[in-house]
Amino acid sequence: MRLLGVLGGMSWTSTAEYYRLLNHGVASRLGGLHSARIVLHSVDFEPVAAMQHDGNWNGTAHVLVEAARGLERAGAEGLVLATNTMHKVADQIQAATDIPLLHIADATAARIRADGVSSVALLATAFTMEEDFYIGRLRARGLEVITPGAAERADVHRIIYEELCQDVVLDSSRARFRTVMDRLVRHGAQGIILGCTEIGLLVKSGDASVPLYDTAAIHAEEAVSWMLAP
Ligand code: GLU
Repeated sequence: MRLLGVLGGMSWTSTAEYYRLLNHGVASRLGGLHSARIVLHSVDFEPVAAMQHDGNWNGTAHVLVEAARGLERAGAEGLVLATNTMHKVADQIQAATDIPLLHIADATAARIRADGVSSVALLATAFTMEEDFYIGRLRARGLEVITPGAAERADVHRIIYEELCQDVVLDSSRARFRTVMDRLVRHGAQGIILGCTEIGLLVKSGDASVPLYDTAAIHAEEAVSWMLAP
């Protein structure tokens, strides 16, 4: 089994879920007491999130490049960056190491295409919904991508940072997500990408009338396949 390096803590609530999913995936493939071989670098998210909101993406890249190099020195043979938003600096991390970074958007796009779905909605942080680094990558893989309106995007962003990243899961926020998802389906979405690794803590497949693509779960499954590949 290959040793996986995980860049986590963004936030810790979703990294905990990655840890469970990675181990569950290996155990269900290999059986018995098998579990995932992982080295984890979990950052302090407060200063990283402050840099995001200040537009200091080079600062965030510096933190993650140093962490990735540490994981490589610790023997990691590949990396997962356990957040969609920070894939804004994925190229800088990849360029600074000699091991592959398993890109969350590529794994997600491949899963959606395999389902025969071509038009999807994206729920994520404002950075991921409003900039090109993520949507452009999905579009380059043949997907049509729609996003919610401005007020809805602001609510989704707020719920991610003020609640889900702080381990707060509220019924009122689940209701808000349901309303947003319903509108996206009426605008033609055949599926919805949970494009922030915490959203799966709030909504489940029964909360929408179309398939939900949980990026944390898809990314973890992709990593398990990579770890166990011959
Ligand atoms: N985990 C989230 C994501 O997948 C948001 C936190 C972050 O900004 O990294 O985008």
